[in-house]
Amino acid sequence: APARPAPAERQAPASGGGARVKLCVNLNTLADLDAFDPERVDGVGLVRTEFMFLSPAEALNEERHFAVYRRIVASLGGRPVAIRMLDLGGDKTLPGIAEGGPASLLGERGVRLLLAHPELARVQARALLRAGVLGPVSVLLPMVTLPDELTAMERLFAEEETRLARLGIPVRRPPLGIMVEVPSTALTLDLFGEASFFSVGTNDLMQYLSAAARDNPAVAHLNARSEVALFRLLDQVSAAARLLGKPVSVCGDIAGQPRGLARLVAAGFHEVSVTPGRLGAVQAQLREVAAVAGLTES
Ligand code: PEP
Ligand code: MG
Repeated sequence: APARPAPAERQAPASGGGARVKLCVNLNTLADLDAFDPERVDGVGLVRTEFMFLSPAEALNEERHFAVYRRIVASLGGRPVAIRMLDLGGDKTLPGIAEGGPASLLGERGVRLLLAHPELARVQARALLRAGVLGPVSVLLPMVTLPDELTAMERLFAEEETRLARLGIPVRRPPLGIMVEVPSTALTLDLFGEASFFSVGTNDLMQYLSAAARDNPAVAHLNARSEVALFRLLDQVSAAARLLGKPVSVCGDIAGQPRGLARLVAAGFHEVSVTPGRLGAVQAQLREVAAVAGLTES
């Protein structure tokens, strides 16, 4: 019999009958681009743009946005890049626009704030439409609660696309996906068929499920102990996305933790996105999972 390739080299499915688990990276700053080898990732699963434009003047500067997106797309050499629109509110502030504070965690945060400040959303949308020409860019909307919010952002992108095209500026409309990080959204994913893809934000989903702030050490144990509830919901999210035939990935911190990752693979997720510092460990774990799946299937 021909020699069997070493398990690490085999592109064995990482879970029963599934495809290889894609590994992407989360970017918080442009400096993060130097913290990993683009050849070793499948793409960028999350760009947290709210950390990249720290004053209203910067956040309202279309050229500034475009320069940042061009840099990221160029660094990734043709690999897909999912850029999240400004997720302001909560702990992420912008003077005069998003003052932050605990109350805003349940208030005007993420896409809610973007729809309340359309000038901010339009500037970012125009830069993203222009960046779409440079490579496989997709756009993630943060804190989506209702399908209407996605519809409103689709309309905003269509309007800005028309406006730029009339000026003769090259544009390509990027597919819009949503963060799944509000419990009601996770429970009703079937209503979000308009989304091109889903990305599960377990950091927020967990804190909203357990009613325990993600950054408060006094209630950290409540978040940890709510994993049972989280994973029941994630099983549901994975199944709902499959029924819709839409890609779903997980970009919350849990994807970079060994037990979390194993459970996500078991739930049928085929893509995760982690902080650059966790890439090596996650890669190693995925190789191991793939090797075990390869052995059990033969
Ligand atoms: C999350 O909520 O899990 C997420 C990935 O987004 P952020 O941590 O930026 O809120
Ligand atoms: Mg979040």
